[in-house]
Amino acid sequence: MTRINLNELDPSFKFKVASSRGGEGLQSCYACKACTAACPIEKTVKRYDPRKIIRMALLGMKKELLESDFIWLCSSCYSCSEVCPQDVRFTDVIYAIKNLASSEACAPSGLSAQKGLLKDHGRLYEVSDFENEKRTKLGLPPIVEHPEDYERLL
Ligand code: SF4
Ligand code: SF4
Repeated sequence: MTRINLNELDPSFKFKVASSRGGEGLQSCYACKACTAACPIEKTVKRYDPRKIIRMALLGMKKELLESDFIWLCSSCYSCSEVCPQDVRFTDVIYAIKNLASSEACAPSGLSAQKGLLKDHGRLYEVSDFENEKRTKLGLPPIVEHPEDYERLL
């Protein structure tokens, strides 16, 4: 059972999620639980429950959500979005929540490291002179990094 600390609730959190890209449908949810029933992650990890995550966001449980580990478990299969009668699009809502967590430095360290690699090299693996020399020997063109393209996206 999740305990609710009234002193830590942030009533503006639902508006922040709803005004973020992907979070627009948050306040249309009427808690029917069809998303939870369709979610493959919820079947194995009970603390990951789409309907519950929406209730937590609506209640203003910002800290519990942004600092949780479970918001990162979504596999982006979109099953929840397909069955939702209210067009809440939970997959996009959870992206919005993850983006907020990331902007508040709550993302898992592995993801932050990947973001740093994309920013610095434009790819998840740095291509060194060693790899490019091997490519030259094989008659392949060198790989040139264009991190500026990814920095714009990030
Ligand atoms: S299926 Fe849609 S309306 Fe029903 S609980 Fe999930 S998000 Fe809310
Ligand atoms: S997109 Fe995420 S929340 Fe939705 S059903 Fe798939 S795993 Fe569950």
